[in-house]
Amino acid sequence: MIKINEHYLKLQASYLFSNIAKKVGDFQKANPDKDIIRLGIGDVTRALPQACTDAFHSAIDEMATDSGFRGYGPEQGYEFLREAIAKNDFQSRGADISADEIFVSDGAKCDSGNIQELFTTDARIAIPDPVYPVYLDTNVMAGRTGDFADGRYKGIIYLDSTKENNYVPSLPAEKPDLIYLCFPNNPTGSTITKAELKTWVDYAKENQALILFDAAYEAFIRDESLPKSIYEVEGAKEVAIEFRSFSKNAGFTGTRCAYTVVPKECAAFDAKGGKQLIHPLWNRRHCTKFNGVSYPVQRAAEAVYSEAGKAQAQELVSGYLKNADLIASEIKNLGYGFAGGENSPYIWIEGKRDSWEFFDMLLSKAGVVCTPGAGFGKCGEGYIRLSAFNSYENVEEAMKRIKAALA
Ligand SMILES: *Cc1c(COP(=O)(O)O)cnc(C)c1O
Repeated sequence: MIKINEHYLKLQASYLFSNIAKKVGDFQKANPDKDIIRLGIGDVTRALPQACTDAFHSAIDEMATDSGFRGYGPEQGYEFLREAIAKNDFQSRGADISADEIFVSDGAKCDSGNIQELFTTDARIAIPDPVYPVYLDTNVMAGRTGDFADGRYKGIIYLDSTKENNYVPSLPAEKPDLIYLCFPNNPTGSTITKAELKTWVDYAKENQALILFDAAYEAFIRDESLPKSIYEVEGAKEVAIEFRSFSKNAGFTGTRCAYTVVPKECAAFDAKGGKQLIHPLWNRRHCTKFNGVSYPVQRAAEAVYSEAGKAQAQELVSGYLKNADLIASEIKNLGYGFAGGENSPYIWIEGKRDSWEFFDMLLSKAGVVCTPGAGFGKCGEGYIRLSAFNSYENVEEAMKRIKAALA
């Protein structure tokens, strides 16, 4: 008899986006003339940079000739892209990361979800609350949690991110083996300082733990004093893996390209307490289960680092940040507390009421879609997330309507 992985049965059905879709659909049906503005989803809206589509096109033309055709490429990614990443994203900021420590993939979602299979089933896991749901769900699937009760899985060390700690969790009382961190954060938009990040790096070292650092939103950091990479912190290479993506900085959500950094000296331990390097293990996993990102997509990603590509990607991000500025200043004027919006495309708003109640009110009174904070964890209850991923005109109109609705 074929039996299923029972851990999948523990997963809480994510009603978040299906619930939102149903509520928006019902509202649209009842109000067919109402123009709905979506500030809910975490997906970009503006076109790919021209430098990227040009590179994409010419790579496809190469593929159309026998001499330029490419079949399977290196699983870890083409050298041209890994070199460009190492040089531009790390070495230029004083982080000593080399091309062979970069693993190109089709998404930071898959990488941050797959990485946990390198570690023992009884590893103790620390996960921020609220946060991107992938870290938690993939550990539930792998059997690292108990059942779900009172809004939380048993066996997980939750790192509460609240107004009191400025949405940067403090070190937990109970010692974890694996620590997930995400900054700038989704959904709170909060950032971490170099000193705060150093506290985590030092803690991981002292406790033989490993940090999984998701920096998918690093491009939105405007404050030059903030770290874009965990490797800007001394000693991080031994205890941290970093996830990056072209999704949010260059509009690749539908194009698919990302990468994971596993430094050569980054280590975990075997059953006898011996040091085991992670690089060869991740390399083995990657090559066994993945056959590389398509050549045209890697050429398009490489173009993000060309002179024109850098300027165009910067312009995309600046446009979203301008939206974020507008949302943040209007929310402030309305007298609501919030986080994010400064070095992040997300604005995390203290709703002064239940998350879904706020969602319903904004939809019915303003025709604006937000994301209820409760969907990101227990600590998200009472909050909503507004996203800056839209046109400036739509954001302007949305804020006008929100002002009227909340007045
Ligand atoms: C959007 C996002 C990613 C990017 O995922 P891709 O699979 O590369 O598109 C990763 N982490 C977080 C927290 C995100 O919000």
